[in-house]
Amino acid sequence: MKLKRSLYRFLLILIVGIFVLIQVIDFFNPEFYHSFEIVSNIVSIVTFAALGFLFFLIKEFDKKADEYTKDQQKMKNIFDTLDVAIWSHDLKTDTLLITPGIEKLYGRKLESFYEDSNLWKEVIYPGDLYVLEEREKKLAAGETVTSHYRIIRPDGEVRWIQDRGIPTFDSKGDFVDFNSVLFDITDRKESEGLYQSIVEMSPDIIAVVHDGRIEYINEAGCKLIGAESQEQVIGQSAKNYVPAQITDLIKSKVFSPDKSEKERHTFEFQVRRTDGESIDVELAARAILYEGRFAIQVVGRDITQRKKSEQTIKFMAFYDTLTMLPNRNQFRKHLNEILHRQEHKKHAVLFLDLDRFKIINDTKGHSVGDIILQKVADRLEKAVQNEGLVSRQGGDEFIIVLEDVNKEKASQVAKRILNEFSYPFEVNSEEFFVTPSIGISIYPMDGSDEETLIKNADTAMYQAKEHGKNNYQFYSNNLDGISTWKMKLENWLRRAMEQNQLTLHYQPQLDLCTGNIVGVEALIRWNHPEYGYIAPSEFIPLAEETGLIVPLGKWILREACERRKAWKDEGYEDFPIAVNVSVRQFQDEHFIRFITEMLEEAGLEANYLELEITESLMQNLENSTIILNQLKELGVLLSVDDFGTGYSSLSYLKHLPIDKIKIDKSFVDDIIYHSNQGMMVKTIIDMGVNLKFTVIAEGIETEEQVKFLTQNACQIGQGYYYSKPLPAHKLEEFLLKGSVPIF
Ligand code: C2E
Ligand code: MG
Ligand code: MG
Repeated sequence: MKLKRSLYRFLLILIVGIFVLIQVIDFFNPEFYHSFEIVSNIVSIVTFAALGFLFFLIKEFDKKADEYTKDQQKMKNIFDTLDVAIWSHDLKTDTLLITPGIEKLYGRKLESFYEDSNLWKEVIYPGDLYVLEEREKKLAAGETVTSHYRIIRPDGEVRWIQDRGIPTFDSKGDFVDFNSVLFDITDRKESEGLYQSIVEMSPDIIAVVHDGRIEYINEAGCKLIGAESQEQVIGQSAKNYVPAQITDLIKSKVFSPDKSEKERHTFEFQVRRTDGESIDVELAARAILYEGRFAIQVVGRDITQRKKSEQTIKFMAFYDTLTMLPNRNQFRKHLNEILHRQEHKKHAVLFLDLDRFKIINDTKGHSVGDIILQKVADRLEKAVQNEGLVSRQGGDEFIIVLEDVNKEKASQVAKRILNEFSYPFEVNSEEFFVTPSIGISIYPMDGSDEETLIKNADTAMYQAKEHGKNNYQFYSNNLDGISTWKMKLENWLRRAMEQNQLTLHYQPQLDLCTGNIVGVEALIRWNHPEYGYIAPSEFIPLAEETGLIVPLGKWILREACERRKAWKDEGYEDFPIAVNVSVRQFQDEHFIRFITEMLEEAGLEANYLELEITESLMQNLENSTIILNQLKELGVLLSVDDFGTGYSSLSYLKHLPIDKIKIDKSFVDDIIYHSNQGMMVKTIIDMGVNLKFTVIAEGIETEEQVKFLTQNACQIGQGYYYSKPLPAHKLEEFLLKGSVPIF
């Protein structure tokens, strides 16, 4: 543009010059001019026209030049305000042009770069100088190069520079010009660095997958899949680690056309590790632009532990962790399903409670109790086989449902269960006899819903307990309300103790050879004012359960001792009075003191009192031995009641200060019914006598039994055959006789 303007100015001067020349010639030689007058006039007109036009052109050019300069200034201003610097080096003329923006970027004066052409290099962070080597190589090859390096400002601040170098070559291939555009990219670099370290240091898996291949994976991701390095994984197919249907699902969800790109999708699945193991992973995925292409970014974490906890919680919600049997919830669910699925068939619910289990727990501790419960669970499953579902309800209660069975089939299973309990449980080389009481309800007769069926099986179970435990009973309508009955009974019993509704009856014990009375057993009787007679077998277990047995037992002991003292005073000298004592009373820490004080208050010598204990006491042999020895020291006699039904063996007893053993009525009964059980009685008597115990046979009802017992050297007998338990005044009549006839 400048060139054009000069040309026009030259033309203008030329025309003006020609015009002035013509006027000068005209002044000195008018002739010459006149000969050209017409021409001269035309020249003048053209000259003026040309002058006008040229003047216009020059004006226009000046205007344009001004605008151009303004634009240039404007551009310069823009460059100066931006964090950009341009470095231009004309190699031919060796002229350097640097825009003032460099001051802002480098924090140094523009002139300093002109003064020291190496300054730009000197301020580069030493660690980044290596970048220049490659850059120079590429520039020399004619390539445009973008490099990133750090510079150090005079105040020590470090900034990131992006340097885009553009080389220019002439037609001969000579490097003639070099331009470099410099940007401050510190902010971008910092956020990139921050992002990168977040990604790399993240404990979560972060990966980018493009076209099914892993393009990026962080360290946590490598660790999760068991890879040693990122290189081992990058470039691999995602399907090597994730099931194909999952990768396909992720892809379809993430790139679904009707979803927004920002939408996140979460997935839970199993990842295959390089070592072949599987782990649970939770993953979020979304579409991102990665290196100019649409890819899937995934962020996930190992949830194996969480999954395990979830499973445990789930398991605990439906299973009993001690026995691993289904629990109450699972059982109810299962029973409901059966009732829905098999509405028109018969099903049985067996409610099972362990007899005397509480005593084991109380005397041996929960750890032994727990082992026994586990063993019980195994035996129940063995007995039920695949015919039903065994569950533990809690404590020592188990419920079994038998699907599609009739009454006979239910009986068979119940018998199999009882049979499984016919041999002892061994824990820490000790043997424990635990027996079950089973109540059975049948759908639909005994209930149409789960709740009623369980309730009625429970009621029937109580009936089984009433029938002497270790048996099974079917539900029948008249068992209804046993639980409420139990509650009523408990209240009544409390009142009975206050209102003296309880009395003691006495049953004589006789020398089988001489017929002489050698002892008396005190047995409690309860005559309820409205309900009438309530058997001890009904309320004693309840009193044991509720703890009422402790105050009740004290009353019984005192009453019996006072009675014995009165008889003694009347002259009935020779025999002791036997009183039944529950384990619970024994566990009372004041028991020994109570006995001592009570005997003293009653004025009775200790050898007139005999305590009947049960074999369950032997379960805590150590503790019982101490108490029994203390009692023995007092001079109290000790006998083992219901011998043969519990856990103890005679060899146990020989280490204890026991005086007598009472053979249980069930064995005495079997003398008449089963010949081999008669053998049992015989064995007990033989061993007992050998061990120097006095042997008493309970529940003698027939002459035949008496004969068998005397023949087998049993010394003492007790039973209806001789006398029922009698009120005190009636017993006195019996005592008056002194003896019963023998044969
Ligand atoms: P146990 O100590 O074995 O008492 C013997 C039971 O057999 C008594 O039943 C007695 O009446 C009964 N009996 C005696 N001879 C015969 C017979 O020839 N045939 C039949 N069928 N039965 C006979 P009872 O009085 O109903 O007592 C039952 C159980 O209740 C007792 O068994 C004992 O364990 C407990 N018990 C009774 N009184 C007391 C007491 O004062 N304190 C404690 N802790 N328990 C007691
Ligand atoms: Mg007894
Ligand atoms: Mg007995």
